[in-house]
Parts: sequence; C-alpha cells; structure tokens
Amino acid sequence: KLYNEVQEAKGNIRVFCRCRPLNKQEQSAGCATVVDFERVSDGEIGILTSGSTKKTFKFDRVYTPKDDQVDVFADASPMIVSVLDGYNVCLFAYGQTGTGKTFTMEGTLENRGVNYRTLEQLFETAKERNDAFQYNISVSVLEVYNEQIRDLLATPSTTKRLEIKQASEGSQHVPGIVEAKVENIKEVWNVLQAGSNARAVGSNNVNEHSSRSHCMLCVMVRARNLMNGECTKSKLWLVDLAGSERLAKTDIQGERLKEAQNINRSLSALGDVISALSNKSSHIPYRNSKLTHLLQDSLGGNSKTLMFVQISPSEQDLGETISSLNFASRVR
Ligand code: ADP
Ligand code: MG
Repeated sequence: KLYNEVQEAKGNIRVFCRCRPLNKQEQSAGCATVVDFERVSDGEIGILTSGSTKKTFKFDRVYTPKDDQVDVFADASPMIVSVLDGYNVCLFAYGQTGTGKTFTMEGTLENRGVNYRTLEQLFETAKERNDAFQYNISVSVLEVYNEQIRDLLATPSTTKRLEIKQASEGSQHVPGIVEAKVENIKEVWNVLQAGSNARAVGSNNVNEHSSRSHCMLCVMVRARNLMNGECTKSKLWLVDLAGSERLAKTDIQGERLKEAQNINRSLSALGDVISALSNKSSHIPYRNSKLTHLLQDSLGGNSKTLMFVQISPSEQDLGETISSLNFASRVR
C-alpha cells in the first residue's frame, strides 16, 4: 500500500542499475574497474571516464557486485506483486551482452533470479488472499528475433508465424499463443525449462542466439473478487532483452547485420516509448517494433514499468557502460 502511494507521487517508471562483479578472466588479466559506488545509498553511481574525470548517474536504486538476488528481488517485488491488484507490469533487463541480464532474470539453480522468485511470490500472496480472491495464473513464453515472434511453448507441429492483434477492449493479444495454466511453482519451473529448451532448437550457439533475441515471459493473472464477483485481468511481462552493444558495421554483414539492425531498432523503439511516457507526450510510438507493439497495453496508462540497466565494472567495457547508462537516464 505504502509503496503504491510513493509510486503514484513519482510516476510509474523505475530504473534500477546493477553492476556485475569482475569475472575471473578480468581479475586475472588485472582489469581496472571504472565504477565508483561511494553514493549508492543516494541512488548514484560514478563512472571514471578518463584519468580523474567522473560522470555521475542517478537511478532509483544502484546495486553493487556485493548485492545478491535476494536484495534485488526485495526492492522489485512490491511493483511486481501489484499485478495481483490488477495492474499491468513490465520489467526489463537492458544492457550489453555479459553484464548479467539473464543472471538477474533467470538466475541459476543456486541463485534463482527474478522470474522464479516472482512466480513463487505470486502463488504465496494469492494463497494469503484466498478468502477474498480467486486467482488463475497462466504463462506464455515467447521470443522476438529479427522482428518475428516465436512461441517457445508451442510444439513444433503447431509452429506458425504469430501476429499481434488488437482485441476489442484495446488490449493486445497474439492469437494462437500457448497459455500454460500453472497451479504451483513446480509447474512453473517445468514450463520455464520447456521454454528455455525450445530456445536452443535451431541455433548452434544457444548463448549467442539468446543474446540476439528478446526473451519474454508473460504472466497472466485473472482475479475474481469473492465478495462482489468482480473479475479483473492483468499482465506481467518479464523481459530479458537482446544485448545492447553496438557492432562496427565494417565487422559484420549479411544475416548478422540484419540481426544487429533489428536489435538496434527495437531497443531504440523501447527507449522512445518509455521516454515519451515519462515526458507525458501525447503520441506514444508503440508501432515501431514488435517488442513495443506487443507490450502496448502494458506500457503506459495505469501500468508500472521497471528497467534494470545492467553494467560491467571493467575499463574495457567503458564505452558500452556509458551508452547503457545514457539510455537508462533517458527513460527515467
Ligand atoms: P547477459 O545475459 O547480460 O549476457 P549473463 O547473465 O549471461 O549476461 O552474465 C554473464 C556471466 O556473468 C554469467 O556467468 C553470470 O552468471 C555472471 N554474472 C552476471 N551478473 C552477476 C552477479 N551479479 N553476480 C555474480 N555473477 C554474475
Ligand atoms: Mg543473456
């Protein structure tokens, strides 16, 4: 409750910045760190751009490499759980490949990420409220690659081109997409595994492929108020975006160039939409990419948006780090 009051006063868009630790390779190569966390408690992060020059960025939260999955989820969960109150919510992980987008969203078995923790929390909260509400939860898992939508829960025999349609109430939907009804966290785990296995099909390098596509988990919540019979429908999107790194045009061609252009276009479109929303602009350009078009009814209006901007501490990544932080500052 309190969170929502604070939130209304500040608008519905939040940006959290998370910096990963230096990895073993960087450590043994003696890589320098360019990040300064002196003022994280004020939401500030300093980047040493050259010599003694420091550029400071301000976000709603800043996580240092010492913060773990529990710390991150604790701050994100009030916003996420508001899907049970009827809000549409979008959560994104943005950043250069290798900065921890998948770590934050999926995590590992020992260090579960936001996706798993979210579903776990939703079931728990739904149970606590079961004298007042009856909840139905279902999930879809899809991938957007080269401006094409792929249903990761569809069996190969039903695989077809998916399109976005506008439903009568103005909400977006993808006809034919699989919505798996889930009753408990075990079932969710199986669905997530199935989605992740489907991602690997047809790609010779799973990591590379996943860094070039947007992986989108949609949680649909139907709630029935047991007192008055009122029903609400809301959606939560958990999105692991394609890597934001710019590739030199001279280094790539053919299919790889087309991929890069599509990624570029959809990430710019996302930035344009969120910044138009935060500037309360009268025209919101949802239709410029599949990503933003899919999310149209969950971005803006009454919806809540949370973006994780993921960065590397290493000097070698300075250029990409600055560009990610600029992107995130623009949407805030
Ligand atoms: P991305 O999805 O952005 O390409 P990954 O999530 O795959 O990046 O992260 C790259 C590597 O760094 C992985 O091995 C991951 O486990 C590790 N990593 C990322 N963030 C953290 C973190 N905060 N703490 C520990 N390891 C991390
Ligand atoms: Mg990844």
